Amino acid sequence: REEQLRQSQKMEAVGQLTGGIAHDFNNLLTGILGSLELMQSRIRQGRTADVERFATAATTAANRAAALTHRLLAFSRRQPIDPKPVNANRLVTSMEDLLRRTIGEAISLEIVTAAGLWMTRCDANQLEGAILNLAINARDAMPDGGRLTIETCNAHLDSAYAARQREVRPGQYVCICVTDTGTGMTADVVSRAFDPFFTTKPIGQGTGLGLSMVYGFARQSDGYAKIYSEPGQGTTIKLYLPRYRGVAGEEETHDLDVVEDLR
Ligand code: ADP
Repeated sequence: REEQLRQSQKMEAVGQLTGGIAHDFNNLLTGILGSLELMQSRIRQGRTADVERFATAATTAANRAAALTHRLLAFSRRQPIDPKPVNANRLVTSMEDLLRRTIGEAISLEIVTAAGLWMTRCDANQLEGAILNLAINARDAMPDGGRLTIETCNAHLDSAYAARQREVRPGQYVCICVTDTGTGMTADVVSRAFDPFFTTKPIGQGTGLGLSMVYGFARQSDGYAKIYSEPGQGTTIKLYLPRYRGVAGEEETHDLDVVEDLR
């Protein structure tokens, strides 16, 4: 079932992409290549007067292409979204059986739920999908077995941290950390892992859409996602979702501030 869910999500994303955005992207690339070729031939001929103009055209097209790839990150926006107050402890715990079946026998699963966890507000189905995607990646990173830990906590992101991350607003978040003891990633892979279609897996095994969907979901929920990983050290992916201060679940929460370390 999980494999089917994953496949159908990815196929849907691929279909939408090839329909529209890939075409636009290709047009922009054609423009960039054309400008660069013109620049090269003008430089060869010693006629450099127009070179600046072509460089500007190439830069403009490249910026548009970059904006397109950012729009790809919002893939999950295309699915109907239904944000509701969510108790992440309950959600993670309810996924235990599914997660065990997904990762197999060689990988142990540990779920650590924080006492007094705040409520968050997001689309619960998409949060499940995101956690499942992270578990599948963790499994793939631990071919010889290992441990998958899913941990919740309250997190207060201060303004200095938020300023450094640029994309996140300071404030109170519910954090879901997914940690594996797998291969880890190089800094280069970390910097590209959220990009749509970035994959290090063999053709046919990875589409490179899992993490871009996780990221799109987090951003769309007014939260964010961050990767901590080093080769040989395993990987932690932290999903931050905004605290929900509504009535639901309020009685079961108390403030338990965890100040994020400022890495
Ligand atoms: P896919 O899993 O299809 O390759 P993703 O977007 O989910 O696509 O991941 C992109 C890449 O990020 C992977 O190919 C892999 O190199 C790296 N990656 C993701 N999660 C992990 C992890 N838990 N451990 C090591 N590498 C990972």
